[in-house]
Amino acid sequence: MDLKNYIRDIEDYPKEGIIFKDLTPLWKDKDALKYTIETMASFIKDKNVDLIIGAESRGFMVGTALALYTNTGFIPVRKPGKLPYKTISATYELEYGTDTLYMHEDAISKADNVYIVDDLIATGGTACAMVEMSETLGANIVGLGFVVELAFLNGREDIKKYPINSIITY
Ligand code: AMP
Repeated sequence: MDLKNYIRDIEDYPKEGIIFKDLTPLWKDKDALKYTIETMASFIKDKNVDLIIGAESRGFMVGTALALYTNTGFIPVRKPGKLPYKTISATYELEYGTDTLYMHEDAISKADNVYIVDDLIATGGTACAMVEMSETLGANIVGLGFVVELAFLNGREDIKKYPINSIITY
């Protein structure tokens, strides 16, 4: 199945010069959705994953669906002020300035096998922040998985010590 048929380019969104990859047609189509989650699941077959980690908010779609499909748990990574319990954080670079993501401090137990996911990897900042927090909590990072990788932005550079899978590459 060619998932590129279910990804729509939106020019100049959210700001001028960005081509936004809109995955909503993919989530809408039951066969494309099933194929996406099945393919993600094939990346972690036999890896004994305990937890899927996903960042707000598009990472929740792929993350919770994958967790259900692979009989694992799901850990949400969130933006400032959203998690109610004690948190740890990681700050990462944006094009202009920085952003910070949070995870509950008891989200991961030492040596849990975790798989980090998102709908898309662009510069890799979000993925790096998830890696950093997972490492802080002592997780064993089995790898990272993305539906889409914008390879020309070289987002995998800072996380290349871990296995990285993406279904579609631009
Ligand atoms: P980054 O931290 O730069 O790797 O950006 C990854 C996050 O931003 C993901 O959660 C994506 O949903 C979103 N994102 C960044 N760039 C794009 C893009 N061109 N199209 C769609 N989503 C994007």
